[in-house]
Amino acid sequence: MINISIILIVISLMYSIFLNFFFFSKKHISTYENRIFSILVLSNFLGLLLEIFCYITAKYYANSLITILVNKLFLIYLIAFAFIFGLYLLFVCFMNVEKLEDNIVLKRLRNFIFLLFIICSFLIVILPVKIKIVNNYSYSYGPATNVVYVASFVLGLICLVSLIIKFKNITRKRYVLIFSFFIGLSAVAIIQKLYPYLTLATSMETFIIFLMFNTIENPDVKMIEQLEIAKDQAEKANLAKSDFLSSMSHEIRTPLNAIVGLSRGLTEYEGLPKDMQEDANDILNASETLLEIVGNILDINKIESSKLEITEMPYNFKEEVENMVKVTTTRIGEKPIKFNLSISPDIPYELLGDKVHIKEVINNLLTNAIKYTDEGQIDLTIKCINQNDICNLIISCQDTGHGIKAENINKLFTKFERLGVEKTSTTEGTGLGLAITKKLTEMMNGKINVQSTYGKGSLFVATIPQKISIMTEPLQKIKPQQTIAPSTYENKKILIVDDNALNIKVAKKVLKDFNLQIDEAASGKECLSKVKENNKYDLILMDIMMPEMSGEETLKILKEDGHFQTPVVALTADAIQGAKEKYLQAGFVDYIPKPFTKEQFQQVLAESLSTKKTYNPENDRFKDVEPIIID
Ligand code: ADP
Repeated sequence: MINISIILIVISLMYSIFLNFFFFSKKHISTYENRIFSILVLSNFLGLLLEIFCYITAKYYANSLITILVNKLFLIYLIAFAFIFGLYLLFVCFMNVEKLEDNIVLKRLRNFIFLLFIICSFLIVILPVKIKIVNNYSYSYGPATNVVYVASFVLGLICLVSLIIKFKNITRKRYVLIFSFFIGLSAVAIIQKLYPYLTLATSMETFIIFLMFNTIENPDVKMIEQLEIAKDQAEKANLAKSDFLSSMSHEIRTPLNAIVGLSRGLTEYEGLPKDMQEDANDILNASETLLEIVGNILDINKIESSKLEITEMPYNFKEEVENMVKVTTTRIGEKPIKFNLSISPDIPYELLGDKVHIKEVINNLLTNAIKYTDEGQIDLTIKCINQNDICNLIISCQDTGHGIKAENINKLFTKFERLGVEKTSTTEGTGLGLAITKKLTEMMNGKINVQSTYGKGSLFVATIPQKISIMTEPLQKIKPQQTIAPSTYENKKILIVDDNALNIKVAKKVLKDFNLQIDEAASGKECLSKVKENNKYDLILMDIMMPEMSGEETLKILKEDGHFQTPVVALTADAIQGAKEKYLQAGFVDYIPKPFTKEQFQQVLAESLSTKKTYNPENDRFKDVEPIIID
């Protein structure tokens, strides 16, 4: 007759060996649940071995002392397993298993169960046990065995009541496990009663362990470690990407500065034949678009790496928007488009907010309207709702352009999503503008909406709250500083320091109309020696990134001479947040972002050459200008 019990035990033992090996060969998070599980896995393995010993000793040394001892040990194991599992059930019912550590109730419960276990084990040791052998089967009975039955029964009852009372406390996964335990235990008890020689308890416990292994939250530490490594690598890659993009855009901007500057010079040169002037215009437009694309890539990069900050500065909204719109609408060019700008008079005189990014939002919407409209009308309307000290700007930009298909509206604000490319394939863009616009609007606690009819036109509405700084125009409005006519600089001598000869050429071209006496230096060292032998410069325009000696280092050395008073302007601005302040703190009186325009030079010259000054952050006109770096 085949012994079913021993077959089950051997199978269980094989599984247990595999599980022990698998479980203990890996690292685990030290949670209470994991610790209980490891004790159960190990004890079940020992229990299975003991049970096999019980069979062997019963078969070959029937009723000898060794058989009795092995059987008693096996009974103690059964009690131990039941108590540990019972303890686990009580924790699951009454406590948050995740927060069991250092719980005083837990410690008391554990001590109490341990005491019960000692008492039961003691009883098993002193009470008699009998072994019955029927055919191939053997089993124990008598008072010591009854201790196991009674203790398991009482423990099971307590756990069952707790489970019913605390039903809601237990997660579904754990419930499956506990439920299986009770069903298994009851089935084993019934089978055991009917066929006492069929000892299935240990195999049932192996099955419970199998369930436990697959159901309890048992996070695989190795997996977590691997995920952490992957996350780390992704972060590093992202950082590398950011660095790459920053340096790439920097490298692209350097030659672009020359292209923009020189082609602008050509477009302004009247003696040029018409077709050449057209070409120069095209070069200028294309290079400005390229500049915009590089700027967009830098922007999205900054937003995504959380480097972009929203600042708060006082500014005159109307003035800023009007000036910006003047430049942007030049892009309409020859297109038969009527443009209307309407700024509500309710808009407070001075707002507090991030003017650079507000303007970027408006500029992006307007640029798109111009790009995607061939003819008709574009209306940029700005209204507001003033509530207490908040001005809610409502910026709407409506066009009679291509419009957007209904199915594409949802994709509009997604990065690199360019819609209707078949219609706009000649229109430059990256599909980043609206993604940036939306992110910026949201960073400023605003919202953006769009309505569009394909073929008829689009309406973009951005609402952005700004704090009100000064409600109405002060009676004595300070007149904007008059710009000094270029001819005033005839006797002024300036020094341009730049390692890139092309950049010097561009700067000289842009400065041509100011009638300045321009000297140049190709390095920090040359600047130092020129200043030393001829310290008569009225202004120094200093590049920052130069080999051997940077602009900052050069300035530092210049300042070591106590008599050095010449204002030094940095011909750069940094794309990295906070860098612009760094340059000003380093002692530059001002800075000009590249690629520079004649107007920028005009303003800086007016301020720097009228009075010699040192840096004062209060007077810093560019402190809120989003910087771009070019050397
Ligand atoms: P880009 O203009 O660089 O392609 P944007 O993110 O600014 O990127 O715009 C995404 C797409 O949305 C554009 O490619 C265009 O198809 C569509 N779009 C944006 N604004 C308008 C508009 N005013 N009229 C029609 N289509 C527009």
